[in-house]
Amino acid sequence: MRETEATTDARRAMEVCNACRYCEGYCAVFPAMTMRREFSTGDLSYIANLCHNCRGCYYACQYAPPHPFNINLPQVLAQVRAETYEEYAWPGPLAGLFKRNGTVVSLVTAAAIALTLILTMALVDPRVLYQPQIGPGAFYRVIPWWLMVTLAGGTFLFSILALGMGFRNFWRDTGGRPDELTRPKPLAVALHDILTLKNLGGGGGGCNDVDEGFSQLRRRFHHFMFYGFLLCFASTTTATFYDHIMGHPAPYPFWSLPVQLGTWGGVGMVIGTAGLIWVKVVSDPAPAARNLLGADYALLILLFLSAFTGLLLLGLRATGAMGVLLAIHLGVILALFVIVPYSKMVHGVYRSGALLRHALERHPTPPPGNKPSDRALGSAA
Ligand code: SF4
Ligand code: SF4
Repeated sequence: MRETEATTDARRAMEVCNACRYCEGYCAVFPAMTMRREFSTGDLSYIANLCHNCRGCYYACQYAPPHPFNINLPQVLAQVRAETYEEYAWPGPLAGLFKRNGTVVSLVTAAAIALTLILTMALVDPRVLYQPQIGPGAFYRVIPWWLMVTLAGGTFLFSILALGMGFRNFWRDTGGRPDELTRPKPLAVALHDILTLKNLGGGGGGCNDVDEGFSQLRRRFHHFMFYGFLLCFASTTTATFYDHIMGHPAPYPFWSLPVQLGTWGGVGMVIGTAGLIWVKVVSDPAPAARNLLGADYALLILLFLSAFTGLLLLGLRATGAMGVLLAIHLGVILALFVIVPYSKMVHGVYRSGALLRHALERHPTPPPGNKPSDRALGSAA
């Protein structure tokens, strides 16, 4: 990673914190910090992505502004984090999208895709835009199966590839080796920390989501959003299985598994994203990196819209509005897939990598000769 003003600021803050250590028990950042005396840019990238922005250390810090030391760890680590997103993005030339990836760009992309689909439908058969379509295969009479699969599959696979390459860049830059990715114990520890959002617990009482008071709001809303997203993904996977393996095309009855997974997932995402937007709006701006808020809102709004338009489509699928709603829902989903590798969404990938690195540091590989299997071999000899 390049040396920048943000990495220089973060290094200075780390050195002050390393001497102070008042916040040692707050989160994973401090144990990772105390293991180091010097901080390379790779170390700072790892530590910045380990920070969950709970803000606990800002309100606890006796050196926070207006103190001349001006220590604002959540803010400076957020700046470094944002730079890591750009640094590790793949393919490199698209990394600049991070700078422009605001709310307007996301919404314009979604609207452009939806409009293209609506225009295509209008040219092929305008009746699908206002006539109700019901029964098996109704969605494919509006947008042909091959077009849906090509657009959704293509953008999804591109996103997965770009995120995977970004993770590889992060892992290499922070000193990781490929063989470390398969060690079961650190993997299990990291997975637990990811699934429970342990680091959003701050010093134990939760985060300083809004102000100096502790709360679990952000953690809970994030859980709603994250598990809602997983349920929606499970819904799509189940529907694909029903359609292409069992030969039973959508739409499915309300009480079927894909619709139930999608409905509860969608409700969870709507609650989670709306809640997180609200927390951002009312929270104290002092520890926030204000120049990054546009990207935060863009992602939350796109996630909210993808769930909301999905629920709307479910509610109105038997009416004449289904054609236009399907195009709008697909437009939002495709915009989300296209933008994901160059949006705040990558924080999940790098934060997971940082949590795995942290678990590896807490459970290091025993030196040769110290493994139980080695000792057994030695005594046998
Ligand atoms: S954030 Fe402030 S109080 Fe906490 S360890 Fe750093 S310098 Fe000390
Ligand atoms: S903001 Fe929270 S997670 Fe980040 S360094 Fe401070 S205490 Fe740790």
